[in-house]
Parts: sequence; structure tokens; C-alpha cells
Amino acid sequence: MKDKIERVSLWHVALPVSTPRDHGIGLVAGNVEVVVLRIRTASGIAGWGEASPWPVFTGTPEATLSAIQRYLAPLLIGRCVSEIPAIMQLADKTIVGHPEAKAAVETALLDAFGQLCGQPVWALLGGCCRGEIPLSVSLADPEFARDLDLADRIRDAGVRIVKVKTGTQGHEFDLNRLERLKKDFPEFDIRADYNQGMQSFEAMRRLQDLDSFELGFIEQPVPALNRMVMAQLCASINTPLLADESVFDLPQAFEAARDEICNGISVKIMKCGGLRRGQQIAAVAESAGLPCYGGDMFETGIAHLAGTHMIAATPNISLGCEFYQATWYLEEDLLETPFPIENGKVQVPVEPGLGASVNEGALKKYARNACEVG
Ligand SMILES: [Mg+2]
Repeated sequence: MKDKIERVSLWHVALPVSTPRDHGIGLVAGNVEVVVLRIRTASGIAGWGEASPWPVFTGTPEATLSAIQRYLAPLLIGRCVSEIPAIMQLADKTIVGHPEAKAAVETALLDAFGQLCGQPVWALLGGCCRGEIPLSVSLADPEFARDLDLADRIRDAGVRIVKVKTGTQGHEFDLNRLERLKKDFPEFDIRADYNQGMQSFEAMRRLQDLDSFELGFIEQPVPALNRMVMAQLCASINTPLLADESVFDLPQAFEAARDEICNGISVKIMKCGGLRRGQQIAAVAESAGLPCYGGDMFETGIAHLAGTHMIAATPNISLGCEFYQATWYLEEDLLETPFPIENGKVQVPVEPGLGASVNEGALKKYARNACEVG
């Protein structure tokens, strides 16, 4: 297991997207920006990771690139890829926050270690509890007609879960969209996500309006820090309430369970800083009887794969995943082969490491900045 890391390469890329997407905390249009990391070992193994920051949610790509280049990459040079817990503990001591940067580093280490052992990443995380994961596609287009077209296309592709991004254009717009989707797509499990877009003052009455749609869950209606309001809503509506922005890390997961602010938690490797930390959050949630959902940021197939391996190894992340962007949002993904989705379900890879290779031509094509350490 002695295979030392010799070089770290980084790319800040801007990837064109097909349509605008409107969320409670911000609009995304034109392109999404991610940071891709590659570690190269003495034996020639390449391990890949991705950081997918969003300035209104987790952080910026510029700060992420700088955090890895200046503070995290030097921790990797000369270390063995098997030293994942020690390296990640050092990362936490070296730089506060920057969970997306740490997720990228840990993903690359797991990818490389898996290739070294000849095992998929899920095997390094405890083994596999599911071979496929039900996929949810988010409907977030400011033009609802375009979302109806997308809903048709994903239904034809076997998708049976949609998440409507609510709280952006008024309560009536949300009620009308949910009513239309409920009528035209009876086979869908429909969920709603406010991304903190609702004022706490008005939340109770408006969420009670949504109870009649029997949604799968309602995600993060009010601002992240309004945890007391989350607890009041959770106790007062019939629809399960999911915490997303209110739970980034382990202490917040503990507090969410203790204070009964939600019925479930969205686990994202970009919020908590990696796959192993995501498993720990799922375990804390499980201790309180709260199931978890495999959330994501604006990601490429690289980060989708990292999340897929985490969910494959974690029974309590049981509410599906939303790894749809590589397939239905980006104009071009960074993977050589399409991110694996069949009949509306993400297929868990069985190859060593993450189980896919990165298209370095696409990386260079969309790079805004690149650098190397080592
Ligand atoms: Mg969310």
C-alpha cells in the first residue's frame, strides 16, 4: 500500500448549461463553475476529485482552488493514498471550512486507493447495500413550459421522482405548478425544495396549503439559521420536512435530531467535506430515526460518482439522489463515458476506484485557470 503522491493538478472550469435555473437563494445561468483535482502517484495511478461550490450556498471556485493549491495539496505530496483518515484530519487542522475543497481531496484519494486495491470506492466505505439509486430530477426553470418538456423527457427515460424548486416567483405560481404536475404526471413522486426562499413569518400558512398535494417531502422552506421555525413547521404540517442548508456538518446533524427540526436530512459531500463525513451524518440521523437524501450541488459526473459510491455504502441514505445535472443540465460533462443512469436509476459502478475516466480534452477546453503542485 506504499504508493506515494507525487503531483497534484488543478483546473477551475466553467461549463455551459442548457437553461437557467431559479432557486430560492439564487439564479444560475450561462455556466456552472467547478474545480477538478487530479493526484498522480509514483506508480502512475491518477485519482480524480471535484469541488462544486456555489457562492450563495457553500463558497466560491476561486477560494476553493486557492485552498487546495496553497493549503491542502502540500499535505498530499509524499503521502500514501492509503492514509486517508490521517490526511483528512490534517486537512481539518490546516484550514477551517472549505468543505468542497476537502470533498475533492478525499474523493481523489479514495479513487486512487480503490484503483490500488482493485476495489470500487464503495468497498472502501464498508461495502454495497444497493446496486442502483432512484434518481430525482429538479424542475427549476423560470419558464414552466420548459420544465413540462423536461418532465416529459425524463418520464420517457424512466425517472419517477421530481423536485420542484419553489419560493422563487410567488405562492400562486408554486400551487399552480404543483397542481399541473400532479394532474399530468400521476406516476411521479413529487417533492418541493424552497432553498430557504420563504419568509418564516408566512411559512406556516403556505406550507399547510401544500399538504393537500401529498408531496414526498418539503425541503428547507426557511433560512438555514431559523431552526426554531423549522421545528415548529415540522410539528405542524403533515408532509415530511427535510433539512438541507440547516445541516452542513456533524454538530448540526446532532442538533437537528435533538431539536426535532426535520423528518430527514439532505446529505451532500460538498456541505460536509467528504464521503466518510457524509456517512457519519447519515449515522447520526439514523440514530434519531431520520432517513437521508442524496443531495448535490451544480456538479459534473465526477462528483456525482463520488456521491453514488457514498450512497451505495450507506443504507440510511434511502430517499434517492439528485445526480441529474451531468445528463440533463450540462451541455457537456467531464466524464469520458456518460454518467450511468438506466431506467430512471443511477447504476452503481463496480470497477475499481470511482469507475470512470475523465475527459481531459473537455477539462482543457473549459478551463479558466489551471495549476500544479509537486
Ligand atoms: Mg436543497
